[in-house]
Amino acid sequence: MQAMMLLGPGRMAFQPTAIPEPGEDDIVLKIGAALTCGTDLKAFRRGHPKWPPPVRFGHEYAGTVAARGSRVQSVREGDAVMVAPTGPCGQCFYCQRAQENLCVSLMETMVLGGYAEYVRIPARVHRVNLFPKPDRLSFAEACLLEPVSCVMFGLEPVTLRPDDTALIIGAGAFGLLHLTVLRLLGVERVYVVARNPYRAEVARRLGASGIIARSAEDARDEVLDLTQGRGADLVVECTAQPPVWQESVFWPRPGGQLVLFGGCPPGTTITLDTYRVHYDQVRLLSPFHFTPAAVRRAYELLAGGHLPTSALISASYPLAELPAVFELLQRGQGIKYAILP
Ligand SMILES: [Zn+2]
Ligand SMILES: [Zn+2]
Repeated sequence: MQAMMLLGPGRMAFQPTAIPEPGEDDIVLKIGAALTCGTDLKAFRRGHPKWPPPVRFGHEYAGTVAARGSRVQSVREGDAVMVAPTGPCGQCFYCQRAQENLCVSLMETMVLGGYAEYVRIPARVHRVNLFPKPDRLSFAEACLLEPVSCVMFGLEPVTLRPDDTALIIGAGAFGLLHLTVLRLLGVERVYVVARNPYRAEVARRLGASGIIARSAEDARDEVLDLTQGRGADLVVECTAQPPVWQESVFWPRPGGQLVLFGGCPPGTTITLDTYRVHYDQVRLLSPFHFTPAAVRRAYELLAGGHLPTSALISASYPLAELPAVFELLQRGQGIKYAILP
């Protein structure tokens, strides 16, 4: 089979690879679809601190069980399944404290390789983060389990009221997923900062109360105007840019919450306005990845058909056209693309 390898910043290539065989506790998945993700684009452009190249590529995927090890009882060949591609060790300091997103061996054991025909899923992943795919979801829609898990994990410590005003910075896939989940959780007013007209239109369709069509650096007055000068109850930063992180601290109301969702490159710093954090009691959160509990909640939302999943998938392409799809993503076109082997 062919598997896409990430070779270094700006470089990817297909490599012929043997179809994986399952060890006695493994499952081999025949990929039904994979989805592109902003994290993949970041990794392609500038490398990823947790994925040293050369490395297989693609972490949002769903498919059919092609083979299973002799000790696997939870699934059978032919089962359609969806998966979040990490599994905590269950034993380390962090796992024992239910902070499995920080498990010491989580990211090294992440199962990359969704941009291929088959992938092997070890027990530590499939025993916690693999679920049956309901018929109502296509394989491409089922791939949203991973990003929705990140969103559910990030919103876990956030307090919400129906009359809150939430503000999302960025209308990429994660900004739009936050929009849909917040609307689903009953937040009536959700505004989105988006300059890309196509993404702004998708945000409107997904229930945004309004679009702030400016760069984050000069949107502060508009944010204050929308909120009687107070600032928003909740601000979610989804651009992964340090200058936006720094600015976003000025957008929540006193006592409000700021979720710094987009991970910035290692070594970057921001200057933090201490008055906002201390005297104004702005609560800073910066979630990374997810826990099995968050994956279960994400699964319930998706399997229940509650998320407008199809609006987030701009088009489908065959696996061979993945480099061209990354060109589209680099130009800011589309949201997520389904990649079909
Ligand atoms: Zn992702
Ligand atoms: Zn662990």
